[in-house]
Amino acid sequence: MPFVVLMGGPGAGKGTQARQLKETLGLPQIATGDLFRENLQNETELGKLAKRYMDAGELVPDEVTVAMVKERLSRPDCANGALLDGFPRTIAQARALDQLLAEMGERISLVPYIHVDPDVLLRRLAGRWTCRANGHVFHLIFNPPKEPGICDYDGSPLYQRADDSEETQKRRIEVYFEQTAPLLDYYRDRGLLVEIDGEQDIEQVHRDLVAAIQKAS
Ligand code: ADP
Ligand code: ADP
Repeated sequence: MPFVVLMGGPGAGKGTQARQLKETLGLPQIATGDLFRENLQNETELGKLAKRYMDAGELVPDEVTVAMVKERLSRPDCANGALLDGFPRTIAQARALDQLLAEMGERISLVPYIHVDPDVLLRRLAGRWTCRANGHVFHLIFNPPKEPGICDYDGSPLYQRADDSEETQKRRIEVYFEQTAPLLDYYRDRGLLVEIDGEQDIEQVHRDLVAAIQKAS
């Protein structure tokens, strides 16, 4: 079973797609942003540390992030594969992931890059509403919930993430281009990158991802 790294800028649709792929492929989703937000809600030390960086739109330090992913990958549900969503985000994290997987006798099968224009990323983040209970995401215009302000899946209230505010959005997109976009070449050079058109509707992006993953595994 595959280890798949979903790449794409903030708002590209990684979380939306990872949730659907989880169902279709039966793989666990490791979303570092969700893990940090869970820690934040539970007021753990890790959550307090991460909050400072998240609120500013900056990346949480590599050592902290890698340690969290290492723990998550060591759980039994990841023995046969996982969908990584939002990790790695730096070259150092990518190298650490290669090493963690090598220790498990595994390696990355595929890196789908969900490509979306920066202008569209901004519009996606500006209209994103997230569910309190489980992090399901909706969009005011592109993917509205059936009932305004309520999650379709679990009925919990929807909120706008603090880091989706206008100032922070721009910084997050800059950080993506400075620190994360170089990973595209890192994976392209290893023959793992496959580009997916992320401006298609959600269902079509899903179909393209499933086809690419099935072909690679
Ligand atoms: P990411 O995890 O990459 O930051 P999300 O999955 O949270 O992105 O999606 C960002 C926003 O864009 C959400 O509001 C989501 O509903 C919306 N969205 C996701 N995919 C699409 C798509 N293909 N077309 C239009 N809107 C989308
Ligand atoms: P989005 O899906 O909009 O890109 P995420 O939910 O993945 O946002 O991440 C939110 C924030 O959590 C990031 O802006 C960053 O501060 C922190 N974060 C998430 N993943 C990582 C990571 N791999 N390395 C460092 N910081 C991260």
